Amino acid sequence: MLHPAASPGISDVNGVGIFAVASLPRGTIVWRRCDNCVELSRVDLTLYPDAVSRWYDEFGIGLDHGAVLVPCGGAHLFNHSCSSSAVCVNEEFGCLSRDVVAGEEITCNYLDFSFEKPWSFTCSCGAASCVSSISARGSDTPPPWMKTVEPDVFRSDIARVLQPLGGGGRLLDLLLP
Ligand SMILES: [Zn+2]
Ligand SMILES: [Zn+2]
Repeated sequence: MLHPAASPGISDVNGVGIFAVASLPRGTIVWRRCDNCVELSRVDLTLYPDAVSRWYDEFGIGLDHGAVLVPCGGAHLFNHSCSSSAVCVNEEFGCLSRDVVAGEEITCNYLDFSFEKPWSFTCSCGAASCVSSISARGSDTPPPWMKTVEPDVFRSDIARVLQPLGGGGRLLDLLLP
């Protein structure tokens, strides 16, 4: 499920990306796992034609044991930037790590997913901090957000911001156990 003020659009970074339709503050939950998101086990993936399972692998978020989660509503389309504005806090949701203005592309850092199968690409995000060559060694466990993202860093921001996707009060406790 994608934030209602975030929408796919043509990207200067790569292909199609996700753009802010309105200015959004740090802490805004920009995507959240829901019942319409597709989750496939490693076994499920073998049941599809190769091209389809490769697509799920590429756009899905790796979970434990080779399973993938493909967020619905276009939320699989976030591009990478070395100066990203959003972070995938865990497999339940991602939030903005800084304010974005209307019309700005919302990006995340693919190195948050570096535990997945080995991959690499040449980055052309244009950020001053761009490291150009991005690669992940790949490993089975643990999920990277356990290591690379500290949810509590965003807890106060998330609690302060109006959240169309939910995320206040008790729901925040579910998202950030
Ligand atoms: Zn969903
Ligand atoms: Zn870059």
